[in-house]
Amino acid sequence: MLVRFWGTRGSLPVAQHATAIQAKIAKALVAAGGHVFESEAEASAFAADNLDFATYGAYGGGTSCVEIEGGDGSFIVCDMGSGLREFGLDSFRRVAAGHAPVYHFFLSHLHWDHIMGFPFFGPAFNPAATIIIHSGHPDAEQALRRQQEEISFPVPFDWLRAKFEFVVHKPGEAFEAAGLKVTLTTQYHSHDSYGYRFEAGGKAVIYSTDSEHKADNMDAEAAFEAFFAEADLVICDTMYSLGDTVSLKQDWGHSSNVVAVDLCHGARAKRLVLFHHEPTYTDEDIQRMHGETIRYEELVRGESPPLEVICAYDGLAVTV
Ligand SMILES: [Zn+2]
Ligand SMILES: [Zn+2]
Repeated sequence: MLVRFWGTRGSLPVAQHATAIQAKIAKALVAAGGHVFESEAEASAFAADNLDFATYGAYGGGTSCVEIEGGDGSFIVCDMGSGLREFGLDSFRRVAAGHAPVYHFFLSHLHWDHIMGFPFFGPAFNPAATIIIHSGHPDAEQALRRQQEEISFPVPFDWLRAKFEFVVHKPGEAFEAAGLKVTLTTQYHSHDSYGYRFEAGGKAVIYSTDSEHKADNMDAEAAFEAFFAEADLVICDTMYSLGDTVSLKQDWGHSSNVVAVDLCHGARAKRLVLFHHEPTYTDEDIQRMHGETIRYEELVRGESPPLEVICAYDGLAVTV
């Protein structure tokens, strides 16, 4: 399977201010230390080798949208955050090159940051497209229609030309979709959210965002470890640092990097992806949290197999 991240930010899309870009450029110039480059390619190679990601890159600001390749040749997409607009444009290019215009969406839940990209999803206007929306929520169709009502948006849902199908699934009951075996689990979050386990070709990918884990609820934690069991990749809501979670932000419906590592260790998972980044965090903040998570994983690993910790950014692709 291949997992492509089109939107990785939590709660609200963010754009970089000019001051953030200026700070990156200033840091890069200092790092170059007067070195003279013959071409932009030479400068790029130096930057890639010598600068950290927060300086040479950016985690991005699109909200939750993750594509999975490796099913029956349909497009497979988790959530419809603002990252969906760019996925839609890219899928037009792939459809023009012969890809089937069949889209399977899997919705974690219906909060705005997870559906706000849908009104800007171009393929919804393609009469040849089929769009199947899988969800644990019976009110998924209502949520999508409501955000396109006239008071909020100029194009009503009924103007869309694709063929639509809404499918509601029961947690715990595995089903086949888009050539994958799929299972949902209910997660603790306002109006509930659902985590997904996708399996194909002996590999398992977990998409578990907007999920608060309570340290004092051992039964629930054991259930999540079973859901994550032996997964090759676990995409996890790590919006906050543990300090925020236990002090300021209890019951906000999100989790920390520390809890995610503990669950993955318990589940003997292979790789963890930090996801749904807090919108007020700068690139430096997210990079620091990534480093702290790697150190924490090493410290508490014990008898568990090593867990690789990856930090999601808009544009990241991971082969599983
Ligand atoms: Zn969210
Ligand atoms: Zn939410």
